[in-house]
Amino acid sequence: MQGVASVSISGGQRGWARAVMLGIAYFTAATAMIQLTRFDGGLASLWLATGLLTAELLTTDRQQWRKSVIACLIANFAATALFSFGPVAAAPIALLNVGEAMLAATLMRRLRRAQSYLNSLEGVIAFALVAALIAPLVTGLPGAAVAASFSGMPFAAEFRSWVLGHGLGSLTFTPLVTLIISGRIVRWLRGSTPAARIESVAWMMVMAATTLIVFGQSTAPLLFVPILPLIIIAFRLEQAGTVIAIFILAGIGALMTARGYGPVQLMGADPADQLRLFQFYLAITALTALPVAAELSQRRALFRRIEESEARFKLITESSTDMIVTLDRNGTVRYASPSATEVTGFTPEQLIGRRPHELLCGPDQATLDAAGAAIQLAGRPTTVEYSARTPTGESRWFEAHTRGLFDEHGKLTGWVSAVRDVSARKALELRLAHAASTDPLTGLANRRRFDSLLERKIEDRRVNRGYGCIALFDIDFFKRVNDAHGHAVGDLVLETFAAAALRSVRGEDHVARLGGEEFGLILEGASVEQAMVVCERVRHAIARDVTRTPDGIEVSVTVSAGVAEITPGQSRLQLMRAADEALYRAKAGGRDRLALAA
Ligand code: GH3
Ligand code: MG
Ligand code: MG
Repeated sequence: MQGVASVSISGGQRGWARAVMLGIAYFTAATAMIQLTRFDGGLASLWLATGLLTAELLTTDRQQWRKSVIACLIANFAATALFSFGPVAAAPIALLNVGEAMLAATLMRRLRRAQSYLNSLEGVIAFALVAALIAPLVTGLPGAAVAASFSGMPFAAEFRSWVLGHGLGSLTFTPLVTLIISGRIVRWLRGSTPAARIESVAWMMVMAATTLIVFGQSTAPLLFVPILPLIIIAFRLEQAGTVIAIFILAGIGALMTARGYGPVQLMGADPADQLRLFQFYLAITALTALPVAAELSQRRALFRRIEESEARFKLITESSTDMIVTLDRNGTVRYASPSATEVTGFTPEQLIGRRPHELLCGPDQATLDAAGAAIQLAGRPTTVEYSARTPTGESRWFEAHTRGLFDEHGKLTGWVSAVRDVSARKALELRLAHAASTDPLTGLANRRRFDSLLERKIEDRRVNRGYGCIALFDIDFFKRVNDAHGHAVGDLVLETFAAAALRSVRGEDHVARLGGEEFGLILEGASVEQAMVVCERVRHAIARDVTRTPDGIEVSVTVSAGVAEITPGQSRLQLMRAADEALYRAKAGGRDRLALAA
């Protein structure tokens, strides 16, 4: 308990200690500006204090705001009361200055740019608009009115002083203070290698020397010269380095300008205008270099992220047992993972630059086109199974999960595919499918297969695609065979029938065992006459064939059959009933014969 209490007290104390330090800094900045840049009894022509508070409010959380605001109100009141307009004007002036920083920080928070405004071009632009334009304009109206009434200067002159002094001050000072109090400069210095530190120091010396040379003379308008080292620094030393360089330019430039040196003297105006021109120059220079540094640091971060994701992709693809391939829009392989060799037999080098179907290792063009169209249409991944040959000529089954790659406009740019060998599973599936449609004793199609073949045939007939007949065969007095020789011999007789029937029909016909000793034939494209001929052939073959029992006894059987023509509009059940009825008549007529359905 005690520990928690002491932590919260010391947290609060730290907050107040920070506020007091901020107050002292604010007082120093305010006093310095009043003493150094107040030329005519009016407002100071340069005002850095607001920028200081804005930076603090942008960096700290709302809890700290109250303490910062109180500290700066006191500091501003003291500075104005002691060194400027006196105690009566000090209250409204302090409120307006502090209010200006609060307005800028609140707007930046609303724009969700408070913490990160230096990290992007948009952030820098938003900051410039808010802190250097909107906030000074809004507070400048009452501020100039108060100042004018106490200084006796025209309102317009005071308004100009406020907007220019505050705007330019915030523009240069806030980013610098932000980077210092957010610890970014310290982190940058700590994070650099000794070589990078030496380089940084060298560039800072170049910056200082250039500034000294340019501001040490007042004969040539060389203000553009320091921009060169500054931009190089923005490229080489990131944001932190850029801000330090701007600070060097600001510090040396301001000192020299105040002492009457530098190209700004060439305009020959009064010191306030010279200072403002210098400040304007500084602001434009900062606004040129800061976005460049921001953009570069964003690109560096992006580059790091890309490198990371590249490394991740490499790790995954190289350790995956699936082959990962990426194809471009034309279907050409751009990348194949090392497991390609294991999965397809082709090395990645053999695959890259080729189109998969050229190598016999990919799906055929039609399958590819269908999958590609599906991906493009739905934007969802698809799965394709295909059989393909490996370099050794062996045929294997593959399964490819493929996803489309789209650019930012939603246009398809290629595919990424994970391919695996599914031959074992496919073989099992084929075995299962075969088992589900085959009679295990005779190897003929079973009832289920017969029914589905017949359904298809009936549908073909309905749309006038070819004739056909069916025949139902039933072995005569089969019970007697079982009774006399046993069930096993009965099974042998069933196998004999299957062989004889297969021998007697044509290649396109189907023979199925429908159950027991009943068989069904589908005679493709056969007229009734042709069907009768084929069935007669089957009947004769059975009568001729003998089944030899293990004891050497020969068994022969006869069959009866009912034949029916497949006519349009007839259902499978109607057709089967007609054939069955004909079979019944053949049996009744004395067996070992055919009968045609009525
Ligand atoms: P019918 O001429 O009237 O057809 O006389 P049938 O003796 O053949 O009579 P039915 O068709 O009713 O008899 C079928 C017999 O087939 C009954 C059954 O014992 C036998 N059976 C059915 N399935 C099998 C089988 O898988 N193996 C063997 N060995 N016999 C079977
Ligand atoms: Mg029967
Ligand atoms: Mg029978």
